[in-house]
Amino acid sequence: MKSWPSPFIPAVPGTGLPVHVYDTASAAVRQLRPGPTARMYVCGITPYDATHIGHAATYVTFDLLGRALRDAGHEVLYVQNVTDVDEPLLQRAARDGVSWQALAEDEIALFREDMTALAVIAPDHYIGAVEGVPSVVKAVTDLLSEGTAYRVELPEGEGISGAGDVYFDLSSATDFGSVSRWDRDQMMAVYAERGGDPERAGKRDELDPLLWRAARTGEPSWPGGDLGDGRPGWHIECTTIALDYLGMTFDVQGGGTDLVFPHHEMSAVQACGITGAAPFALAYVHQAMVGLDGEKMSKSKGNLVFVSTLRRSGVDPMAIRLAVLAHHYRTPWQWTDQVLEQAQQRLATWRAGLSGNGGPPAGSTIERIRECLANDLDAPGALDAVDEWVLQSLQGPASLASTQAGDGFELGAPGLVGRALDALLGVRL
Ligand code: ZN
Repeated sequence: MKSWPSPFIPAVPGTGLPVHVYDTASAAVRQLRPGPTARMYVCGITPYDATHIGHAATYVTFDLLGRALRDAGHEVLYVQNVTDVDEPLLQRAARDGVSWQALAEDEIALFREDMTALAVIAPDHYIGAVEGVPSVVKAVTDLLSEGTAYRVELPEGEGISGAGDVYFDLSSATDFGSVSRWDRDQMMAVYAERGGDPERAGKRDELDPLLWRAARTGEPSWPGGDLGDGRPGWHIECTTIALDYLGMTFDVQGGGTDLVFPHHEMSAVQACGITGAAPFALAYVHQAMVGLDGEKMSKSKGNLVFVSTLRRSGVDPMAIRLAVLAHHYRTPWQWTDQVLEQAQQRLATWRAGLSGNGGPPAGSTIERIRECLANDLDAPGALDAVDEWVLQSLQGPASLASTQAGDGFELGAPGLVGRALDALLGVRL
């Protein structure tokens, strides 16, 4: 699937530090130790609605991580999926009386524009669930033949395929629970609301995840060979795309905290079932949720703030990016008018501070930005470092015959800081 044009990343003198991030599976901040190429998978959107601020926070956070890894000398192989066929998409299309394909196409196009506006580096492989169907069919067929998956008959009169749905047998997975570290009660508390079907009759364990949904009347389906016609379950889509494009035991699996369970847990156990190896990913990194005016931002509450709406109202996308970066990715935060105003103010101040030929020496500020990013993506700390440089820059040198020597200002410093902001923080002034 077509992604979007990546922004140009300017060179910055020096090299970034080894990157540390909080790994949900080990509940600790850990140093990433990629080879020459860091492999990162971030779960993409289900394209039934526009990109909201919570999405923006997720993709900006992993963009920041990708930039920190590049700065530390790694290539980054970045894969993202699009869940371009799934229950929420089909339901929204039916509600609105449009085809699910047209709805997905429109929302994916809008997402691409939002990502470009936010200066998010495009994934190397941007893969739709529909494109991934053949890999899912192969994986599920293998799991069935190995006995780690099983069929569940369709309720009478529901299906048009006689082969039944296919579920993963969690009793075959020794490491189930190793991503979220949740106990069964915690899992059961959210499973149904996060796309699970604990009440489905015929499952061996109510938590067993759906691998293949047999064709139903009025639903899209694809040829499944021995599985019969149908479509992939949500988790297996990411399992197989990640295995196809990154291979087992890649460096970072990313997404919002609402994906910790069941999505990342199930994606991982299924991958272990398919490959017989472990772990699926070396680090699981999660972006905290973003609320709106004191409430959780959610589609069910209808209180979503869309990036495209803000852009259309004239908000500079760099202000949106700065608003996101002003909050650490592991701390839940609220989107308010004040948050946006502060980001707009900061952007204007930075532009003023970076507009001269000379400024305070750039080296130590760039060093601080790098230290902050390497330390569990401390974007707010990096912003503080820039604020301080800008403040000194605006205060000006000791004399107006400046930018030569002896007054603490350096010619070209604003250009250097500007390049660092662009390359490391993705903020273009
Ligand atoms: Zn995923």
